[in-house]
Amino acid sequence: MTFRLHALIALVVLLFPSLSAGQQADARPASGASSPAAVIVIRAGALIDGKSDTVKHDQLIVIRGNRIEAVSDAGSAKIPPGATTIDLSRATLLPGLIDSHTHIFLQGEDPAQGGYDANILKYPASLRAARATVSVRRALEQGFTTLRDVETEGAGYGDVGIKEAIEDGYIPGPRLFVATRAISTTGGYPLEGYAPELEMPKGAQIIDGPVEARKAAREQLDHGADWIKVYMTHRSWVGRNGELVSQPTLTLEELKAIVDETHGWGKKVACHAYGGIGLQRALDGGCDSIEHGLDMTDAQLAQMLKQGTWYCPTLSVYYADWAPENTPAGQRDRKRASAHEDTFKRAMKAGIKIVFGTDIGGIPWSEPIAQEFPRMVSLGMSPMNAIKSATSRAAEMLEMSGQIGVIAPGAYADFAAVNGDPLKDVKVLENVQFVMKDGKVFRNDVK
Ligand SMILES: [Zn+2]
Repeated sequence: MTFRLHALIALVVLLFPSLSAGQQADARPASGASSPAAVIVIRAGALIDGKSDTVKHDQLIVIRGNRIEAVSDAGSAKIPPGATTIDLSRATLLPGLIDSHTHIFLQGEDPAQGGYDANILKYPASLRAARATVSVRRALEQGFTTLRDVETEGAGYGDVGIKEAIEDGYIPGPRLFVATRAISTTGGYPLEGYAPELEMPKGAQIIDGPVEARKAAREQLDHGADWIKVYMTHRSWVGRNGELVSQPTLTLEELKAIVDETHGWGKKVACHAYGGIGLQRALDGGCDSIEHGLDMTDAQLAQMLKQGTWYCPTLSVYYADWAPENTPAGQRDRKRASAHEDTFKRAMKAGIKIVFGTDIGGIPWSEPIAQEFPRMVSLGMSPMNAIKSATSRAAEMLEMSGQIGVIAPGAYADFAAVNGDPLKDVKVLENVQFVMKDGKVFRNDVK
């Protein structure tokens, strides 16, 4: 069957070579990189470069192909002959933004429509892929030119395919760093609550024991994972003394096998952990980034500082859909948010490296990704530091310093621009009006 189909396609290509080439060209728009002669000049009224603390004014950015060639004062700069000019002289130009914690395969999962479980039990993979295509376009529209997408929630290696589709120019989207399936243990991930006789599919790859743990990491790395995502805690509730308790999942030995394997491949491990034993194992096991980290002690923060562990807090998602106040779930929801605020403030004071992350997908993609900025600022982070957490700092975590998250010669031509001053009102970042990725304008609504 497969052979015959291939033979037929080969015949069609032989008979109609021009048709085949034409269709190819339609389906795969040429990227900025493929026309190295193209020179674009952006004139920026204000420029936040993602790295320095000062804002520059009246700047000229020369872009050749998909890279930034020069950044200089508009007065003294020479515009290369034949360059296309984009006038953003009334806007603030920033590097393309980076969200370090997303789920392109989730859509907020309204309980009224079956919630999380319906995604896995009812939706064809093609529907999930189509929805992920919309998620990545939504991110790009909002100026997020890079995402670290931390697992597909039962959609297997779908993120690898979406990443390929973006890189090959089939669909618009950000640069993706993907984690594929994620890893947890028996009793450590949905689907849950079904009859024990039923073998239910899970939203993550389930392992028990260091041998299975290492094998899962190998499989995921082999199939294209840029990061490995591990769930170190699962259920949480309010304990007898009013404290947040989190159920630990992987043992230290299991995690160490994963970290050892992943580091051997030159890749990093992101650990979902709220607090307590599971978080401590995440740190002792050598996790590279702590996701959420709702409830961390000062000693744990000190350990992170010493080990250089990144902190991706994802504040906004913990304010959505609280259960009623006088129920156990409602108390837990409120305790999560209050513990998180306290931890975030102490982490900032301790000098922990913080990156911007939203958990969007957990939040519907129809909501603004940039809602996390005012959340961080309301807890005491300066707008400039919040911007750096979504630019140069995230780039450092992704080992892409100088390539993304910065406006400087040699970096990829990824930009977002807004009307207004995000340092005065960080909420303006929710209204990105110009986006360029890889030297190509994706949108320009700057007035
Ligand atoms: Zn998440």
